[in-house]
Amino acid sequence: MRQGSFDMIDLEALVREAHDELSGVADRGKVADYIPELGKVDPRKFAIAVATLDGRCVTAGDAQDAFSIQSISKVFALALALGKVGDALWKRVGREPSGTAFNSIVQLEHEKGIPRNPFINAGAIVVSDVILAGHRPREAIGEILRFVRVAANDDSVSIDPAVARSEQDHGYRNAALANYMRAFGNMQNPVELTLGVYFHQCAIEMSCVQLANAGLFLANSGRDPRTGISVVSKERARRINALMLMCGHYDGSGDFAYKVGFPGKSGVGGGILAIVPGRASIAVWSPGLDAQGNSKLGTRVLERIAHQTGWSIFGV
Ligand code: GLU
Repeated sequence: MRQGSFDMIDLEALVREAHDELSGVADRGKVADYIPELGKVDPRKFAIAVATLDGRCVTAGDAQDAFSIQSISKVFALALALGKVGDALWKRVGREPSGTAFNSIVQLEHEKGIPRNPFINAGAIVVSDVILAGHRPREAIGEILRFVRVAANDDSVSIDPAVARSEQDHGYRNAALANYMRAFGNMQNPVELTLGVYFHQCAIEMSCVQLANAGLFLANSGRDPRTGISVVSKERARRINALMLMCGHYDGSGDFAYKVGFPGKSGVGGGILAIVPGRASIAVWSPGLDAQGNSKLGTRVLERIAHQTGWSIFGV
């Protein structure tokens, strides 16, 4: 029985057992292949990393293997864009759950080109547009990458150019979203330049160890507990966590909050970053996805960790 106070939890054993037991699960969902490069990943990959505020990082499986973080990058891009324009961002993007798929276009017509939130593709493309303003795409991409490297406290984080190209070559829906928003006046830069920033941001590759470390500031009121660097203000960290909880899993966000109870952000590469405020930042990776585009095994691991630790943002 490992439920109980933080100090009582044997995190190493808990993570190892979660990995060993769930490794046997055969039904892992379907690897995304609408971006052909993503379809090349080994579907058996499986990793867990739990970074705690006291500087430990407990891992299991392929936790040092880099994978495409895809939409998890939207958390870091949002933090960066809020740092640039603050609340003015909310004139161009909403803060409501969408209840629709990550790449859906239907709401944009009713809501006059203002995407529901910054974590669906349309909203993230607006965020990329904000980061691009006044810069060349190369500089904007560099800025996002620098932000992620600072958050991870790791300069080796990089972008996979093959994934970026694959997204560019097959990003018809994202191009449609961006052009549609342009028609409503919600794109400030040429659409192809903004999309270039967005695709490169999604093509950032990180290991679960790097990703768990990069999320620590959100678990620690905006401050990296290892370096003491303030990445965002306390208030902003809370708000980003709120958005992750409400919108981080697309039309599966409610179910994730119900089952897991942590703010989380998934990506179609099969990664999930989950934040346990005051305790830990958790990254999991298994490439197979459920019908909503969220890692199937990754969600099960987080559900198990939440249950066994007793960690939750909804009560002690
Ligand atoms: N780059 C992906 C896309 O635009 C991100 C989607 C996701 O990870 O949910 O389709």
